[in-house]
Amino acid sequence: MTQTIALQINNQFAGPLKKGYPLISKEAVDVRKLPQEEGALLRITDIHNRFIGTGYYGIQNKGIGWILTPDANEEIDIAFFVKKIKKAIQNREAFFNNGNTTAFRVFNGEGDGIGGLTIDFFDGYYLVSWYSAGIYSFKEAVYEALTETVNYKAVYEKKRFDSKGQYMEQDDFVMGTPGEFPIIVKENGMNYAVNLNDGAMTGIFLDQREVRLTIRERYSQHKSMLNTFSYTGAFSVAAALGGAMKTTSVDVAKRSVAKTIEQFSVNNIDYEAQDIKVMDVFQYFKYAQRHHLKFDLVVLDPPSFARTKQITFSTAKDYPKLLMDAIAITEKNGIIVASTNNASFGMKKFKGFIDLAFKETNTRYKIVEEFGLPKDFRVPREFPEFNYLKVVFIQKLT
Ligand code: SAH
Repeated sequence: MTQTIALQINNQFAGPLKKGYPLISKEAVDVRKLPQEEGALLRITDIHNRFIGTGYYGIQNKGIGWILTPDANEEIDIAFFVKKIKKAIQNREAFFNNGNTTAFRVFNGEGDGIGGLTIDFFDGYYLVSWYSAGIYSFKEAVYEALTETVNYKAVYEKKRFDSKGQYMEQDDFVMGTPGEFPIIVKENGMNYAVNLNDGAMTGIFLDQREVRLTIRERYSQHKSMLNTFSYTGAFSVAAALGGAMKTTSVDVAKRSVAKTIEQFSVNNIDYEAQDIKVMDVFQYFKYAQRHHLKFDLVVLDPPSFARTKQITFSTAKDYPKLLMDAIAITEKNGIIVASTNNASFGMKKFKGFIDLAFKETNTRYKIVEEFGLPKDFRVPREFPEFNYLKVVFIQKLT
């Protein structure tokens, strides 16, 4: 039996929680009153002991737990998880019925009513991501609920939290008939190779689907493209299929070469006609300037934090500098696709970074497209701050 403890919310935090804000922040509670074990249920009240909701205790960088229901009588059991997963699947019916796209998010944490848990669909395979030891303690109920709700080829999982500060070697397979990886999924008719049992990442970030399509359909034809922090080259594939003259993919990780060749190959693109470079992006900018290279389309999609031998990069601090480097090697009238998934700042601040970078370089610009998360990455309607993705297409005018 899961333990339930009573927990009072400090006064200034009670209001938003009563209105449905699902995240319990560390500052909202007396941390000495927290249970010993993550996964305990929390009976949350205001300081007058008026009931607010039932939640669970699980530590993520965002907070110490999530509210699961405002209904004092609702049990957190298999039926609860079945209800939430069924609802989430109903909301994605259009995705399940679309043969051109066979990879998408089925369950998006707080947006589908359970913070800390996401489920992605890859052509019949399900990938469950657990963001705290707390939510992971419900795994049996969740897997039972998933089995009741969907027909899967197999289920895989990623534990995206530290177990006692150590990264544990994990077997990602959970149940079903193990797949042979890579599998090939479709996205708007493009092919992508995906691995569900090879480290934290799968080969494709599903939240960029609309951005890849837009690059392919409207910004690639006859263009030269530079894809920085390219990982498996997913944006490069979209550009090549959109008719780009040539793509250049730059990533510091050695594994990115084989992965990028694979993504080109499953789309019948001659990878030898493309450039794939293992290099620190900031070194590449210097190299490009020395060789007077310029591009029509430059994609910037850095991780929120990165450390290489030479540099430490944080999007919240260094994005203007990254943009300034990109501006220097973008053709006049060219496009910079600036992307960040850093949840610690919003679109307004991001546009401030863009403005700053162009002002510092005495360049004029125009914003031509903006994207947040796509529909399958649902966010709680009243709380858009959970929409962490910010992608801005910027035209360099002078
Ligand atoms: N844009 C990619 C995802 C990027 S993931 C996509 O759409 O699929 C972040 C990538 O940045 C990782 O592959 C990592 O190896 C790379 N990276 C981190 N720091 C880097 C640096 N300084 N120079 C080049 N690549 C870097």
